[in-house]
Amino acid sequence: MQELRSFFSQHEDLTQVILYAGVITSLWFAEMIVSLDGIKTKWKHSTVNTLFIFTALPIQLLLTTFVVLICGWVTVHHWGLINFIPYHHNLWVYYIVMFMMMDFCEYVYHVTMHKVEALWKFHLVHHSDLKVDVSTTIREHPCETAIRTTFLMFWVFICGPAIGVLILRQTFQSFSNIVAHTEFRLPSRVNKIVSLLFITPNLHHVHHHYQLPYTDCNYGDVLSIWDRIFGTYGSLEKDKTVFGIDTHMDENLNGKFVNVLKIPFQKFDHPQRYGTSQENGIPMEKETLQEEHA
Ligand SMILES: [Zn+2]
Ligand SMILES: [Zn+2]
Repeated sequence: MQELRSFFSQHEDLTQVILYAGVITSLWFAEMIVSLDGIKTKWKHSTVNTLFIFTALPIQLLLTTFVVLICGWVTVHHWGLINFIPYHHNLWVYYIVMFMMMDFCEYVYHVTMHKVEALWKFHLVHHSDLKVDVSTTIREHPCETAIRTTFLMFWVFICGPAIGVLILRQTFQSFSNIVAHTEFRLPSRVNKIVSLLFITPNLHHVHHHYQLPYTDCNYGDVLSIWDRIFGTYGSLEKDKTVFGIDTHMDENLNGKFVNVLKIPFQKFDHPQRYGTSQENGIPMEKETLQEEHA
């Protein structure tokens, strides 16, 4: 039974990878049709990001084995916060509460990656993309892949999800992340409604603006409610949004895979974020966050 479950989980993982690749590729072609950039520019940009698949996949697949093992353990031992929730034996209650719990955990993870200097060095690789499109979804430093999956083990241990709900949650999360990075922004009116609950491309694009405080906005993974509750929600008009991260705006640096891999291990000053220097800029106040009117 254990082997069967293990095989099933591995199989699910590979199925997800194939689905994930299929969706990204389809959206990439869709973006290319409507994109103002030439195919050459888009191809060059995507090639760098695509190479991160080869560093992420082995780490992700290896560490997911431990996630699955922990998942099995918490289920057998009725361990985790879910067991303290009234009516958690009801399937609807179980799935909805677990989804929200895990989504909140991912929100905490994302805030942590921004606020802890040692972790930000790895996460900023994702932010260093000077153009955000569907390929940016996979732009993740291999060390962050390991950190993210290790955090996931911790969240699974804390919350106690069964393998079924975890797979469902991860699938939903993957698609949500892909959509959030596409160039296809929602019309303002639609966005106002959808973003009441969900992270939209419009919201995630704000997160990819090169300067604070916008970079530290809209941390949400699937749901936007945590940003609204904890005051990290922000919006910025499309024509005012500049992708990238202020400490690493050099196109030569960001456009070469090996250079990007080295970023976390190189010294750089980030005065706005950690106040290491007063010279390179004055932090913007949260009040400057603008409502989107476009
Ligand atoms: Zn981020
Ligand atoms: Zn992103």
